[in-house]
Amino acid sequence: MNTLEQQAVDLATEIYGLTATTATALPGEMDQNFRLETQDGRRFILKIAADERDDELLDLENAALRHLALETLPLRIPRLVEPPSGPSERVRLLTWVDGRLWVDVPERGPALRRSLGAAAARLDRALATFHHPVAIEREHDWDLRWAHRQARHVSQVAEGNRQALLDHAFQQYSGHLRDAWPTLPPSVIHGDLNDYNVTVDERGESVFGLFDFGDLTASHRVCEVAIAAAYGCLGEDDPVAAALDVLAGYHQILPLEEDEIAVFFPLVCARLAVSLVFAARRRAQAEGNEYLLVTEKPAWTALERLAQSSPAQGEDRARGMCERKPAPGGGQAPDSLSATRKRRIGPSLGLSYRQPLKIVRGRGPYLFDHRGRPFLDLVNNVCHVGHAHPRVVEAAHRQMARLNTNTRYLYDGLTDYADRLASLLPEPLEVCYFVNSGSEANELALRLARTHTARRRLLVMEGGYHGHTEQLIGLSHYKFLGKGGAGAAGPDVSVVPAPDAYRGRHRRTGGPQDADLGRRYGEEVGRVIEESNDPVAAFLCESLLSCGGQVEPPAGYLADAFERVRAAGGVCIADEVQVGFGRVGEAFWGFGLQSTPEAPVVPDIVVLGKPIGNGHPMAAVVTRREFAESFATGMEFFCTFGGNPVSCAVGLAVLDVIEEEGLQENARVLGGRFLAGLRQLAGRHPLIGDVRGRGLFLGLELVRDRHTLEPAAEEASAIVEEAKKDGFLLSTDGPLHNVIKIKPPMVLTADDVDRTLRALDRAFAAHSPS
Ligand code: PMP
Repeated sequence: MNTLEQQAVDLATEIYGLTATTATALPGEMDQNFRLETQDGRRFILKIAADERDDELLDLENAALRHLALETLPLRIPRLVEPPSGPSERVRLLTWVDGRLWVDVPERGPALRRSLGAAAARLDRALATFHHPVAIEREHDWDLRWAHRQARHVSQVAEGNRQALLDHAFQQYSGHLRDAWPTLPPSVIHGDLNDYNVTVDERGESVFGLFDFGDLTASHRVCEVAIAAAYGCLGEDDPVAAALDVLAGYHQILPLEEDEIAVFFPLVCARLAVSLVFAARRRAQAEGNEYLLVTEKPAWTALERLAQSSPAQGEDRARGMCERKPAPGGGQAPDSLSATRKRRIGPSLGLSYRQPLKIVRGRGPYLFDHRGRPFLDLVNNVCHVGHAHPRVVEAAHRQMARLNTNTRYLYDGLTDYADRLASLLPEPLEVCYFVNSGSEANELALRLARTHTARRRLLVMEGGYHGHTEQLIGLSHYKFLGKGGAGAAGPDVSVVPAPDAYRGRHRRTGGPQDADLGRRYGEEVGRVIEESNDPVAAFLCESLLSCGGQVEPPAGYLADAFERVRAAGGVCIADEVQVGFGRVGEAFWGFGLQSTPEAPVVPDIVVLGKPIGNGHPMAAVVTRREFAESFATGMEFFCTFGGNPVSCAVGLAVLDVIEEEGLQENARVLGGRFLAGLRQLAGRHPLIGDVRGRGLFLGLELVRDRHTLEPAAEEASAIVEEAKKDGFLLSTDGPLHNVIKIKPPMVLTADDVDRTLRALDRAFAAHSPS
């Protein structure tokens, strides 16, 4: 025994009256730990708290040990030996937990790993009734809720490829966990079931005991099993399978929820990443503390191998392992649901994909089918801030539980929301009307324009879509000229050419005359105005064409066209239903992309829909005061649901999220990343004729021949189907059905973009003409 060990023996005698014959110093992160043995073979651990150890935290740990001592657990947990002279919180004597350390077991099989999961679950079940204020208050670095804080220290790891690996892990973590935390079941957890804190029976078949409760905290239940799995997979050839063993063992004792299963792998990787970042940081500070560095090598290997499987694959396998039954709440299988739908729902309502998906849940940019398989949703620009965004859900829930009424009463939500929306639009757009859908909003916009001008004639755009009502179908060239269409609404509808620089009347050539394309398409508007003596009431146009094939007008188009419309006494209506609220990245509104200080583009009426309520049915029209005054003819405007308190609360929450999560900027950055990647794909796959769009509103136009522009509609559908097989949801559109649309929820991550590009690459490779 060295001096320190002798001191430990003396302390045990002095405080606990224990006569130890031997003492052995043990490694530890903070405390000084000694194994003591008595003459009669009893073993203990004496823990001397480091000075920096907080009294409160020691109290928490001790309280947890006392709580667990009263539970009947089929596991060895250290017991606190209470000294005869009253509690001694800083020099503690605990019973020794027998068994071999997990790390010392040479061959660990699936049964042992399952038993680790089961032990973690049993422990968590016992901790479910443990309460301590410090557990809730503490915020410590190893708690996976704060893992993202370590992301900024990745640069302390020397090797660049390893930095990339860690970045990937932190990115996955953020992508999956950002919105998930509020729905994950909370729990007090041990928080550090690492391979040095778990013992195994002598045969190496099952977990025998657990110790070191120093990281105990109130976190989330799934973090416990993820941490155990992060260490349980070290040194294994197939760490995914090994982690799944731990998960399955846990799930058998304490069934996990779908959301927990979905975040399991990102948490496992985050724990390894946190551990590796800490090792790098500590190496600099506390050279030589081997205890902190021991798991480094196997952790790198495990993380590298885990990163080779996609989150969707990992999640799929996790669900399979936990034998999740189909669709929570049951419901019909997709085939029988399709049959019922055929009987009950009008046949003109289409379904996406050859094998339609039954979607039961959404979260962030993901949709989950009835088997729990995640799909990255790249087409839903309605759930703008992500599916089931907790903030929006909560706002709706809270307001719905308090009051939902209508605009005939005074309430703050309506004016708060109108103020907020107006503040996002350029002057003089300041008066708001609230309705329930984009169609309704366009109808109202037309009433406003026609009442103000006392004229009827409308200019609409080739390829435009504005809604499903009787009148709007006749104003939506995409519909009235498409299948089943019956032509324009009447003689007072004129169609202006789509400002499509790829396939339209005036095309991009790569030469200097391209700068003039906006004006040339503007002249087309002027030409159409002059085709008739009937004076123009309004020009109704989408700021970027959506159903028309994701077409961004050439620079200067809207300024030129609006000028001509106004010169003819008409009103300019921007339909922003598809593209508003930051989607295009560089501007908050689609028309903003065309606005310059020399030629500002400010519509007279703006129509908002789809993303405005993140899926809650609401829409708005914002206009100038004089238009609103003309509209006050004596006839009341009333829309039963429009602007109700719940919708206003939802609308405000959506704006908060866009702002606080920096989603416009995210769209700008990811749009650039997507466009660059898609252009690279175009270099490899001749089917891609044009890559276009802005921010997270993008399109790929497919052609069989880059000179004749023969549309490749079937190929586009086949590629969409192929990507779906891989877990990526896209769709086709455009008058020729040959444009692949990309307009995902704005909460996509760079990693999602990269994975989508890889999936598209594979899909194109599978369908390239041989
Ligand atoms: N305008 C545009 C540009 C649209 O894309 C749509 C819907 N696709 C509408 C209006 C109509 O909106 P809603 O379906 O909410 O009536």
